[in-house]
Amino acid sequence: MRQIIQFVLCVSILLLAGARSLLAQADPEWTEPFPPFHIAGNLYYVGSKGLANYLVTTAQGNILINSDLEANVPLIEASIEKLGFKFQDTKILLISHAHFDHDAGSAKIKEMTGARYMVMDADVPVVESGGKLDFQYGNTPGSLYPPTKVDRVLHDGDEVKLGGAVLVAHLTPGHTKGCTTWTMQVTEAGKTYSVVIVGSPNVNPGYKLVHNDTYPQIAADYERMFEVLKSLPCDIFLGAHGAYFGLEEKYALMKDGGANPFIDPTGYKEFVAQKERDFRAELAKQSLAAK
Ligand SMILES: [Zn+2]
Repeated sequence: MRQIIQFVLCVSILLLAGARSLLAQADPEWTEPFPPFHIAGNLYYVGSKGLANYLVTTAQGNILINSDLEANVPLIEASIEKLGFKFQDTKILLISHAHFDHDAGSAKIKEMTGARYMVMDADVPVVESGGKLDFQYGNTPGSLYPPTKVDRVLHDGDEVKLGGAVLVAHLTPGHTKGCTTWTMQVTEAGKTYSVVIVGSPNVNPGYKLVHNDTYPQIAADYERMFEVLKSLPCDIFLGAHGAYFGLEEKYALMKDGGANPFIDPTGYKEFVAQKERDFRAELAKQSLAAK
């Protein structure tokens, strides 16, 4: 009897885990529209509720960060146009990291706008294989997407320049091998602010931090990523998902007028510190289990 109960429990847990991963792949908030808005200077939010996209506007055309799922492309286009800019003026496409929720729509956006696609070196094979060379999700059908040609391979510290705008690509690896945190300066009402758009500090469920054959240096890369994030000056705190920096709460505050809630250096420091604690707890757990 006890064996039967254990078997049923095991099957239920497996089913639940499966359902959860399916849910994660089709998070309804990812494709839920969100009002586009001005963040500061020449920087705008053009993402959905769950997936963040940023538009940097210049007189020589615009830079778009992240392409999201293919289903998000019409939403991104509509958000850009709603702000009074032209989707067709997208000259450069960048990503936070090579996961399908941030890069699956890239082929479509390149085709529609002719934008040049610029990706961090270690994420290039993943992007150009449509996700097949991802160390974790390469064999997960739901995580694959149209392979997309990269037009410029970026290296740590490289600058992406257009019409006076300068974005710096910081390699913040671990979550993917080429995970990228973008920084730029914006000027608003005579003041200059340092913007940080975090790539991802998350250790996903199922990530092996110890004895990982497809990504042996993963733990060292996470360590390096936290050092980089802690070293970046940050006034305006943003990231690849709105949940990182409290998009909805801050947007609501913004509508009330007053100080710009996205200027949040303390929130940034607390976020990075919390994610580092999460990483260290997971690393300790996995190291103990591997002994
Ligand atoms: Zn990711």
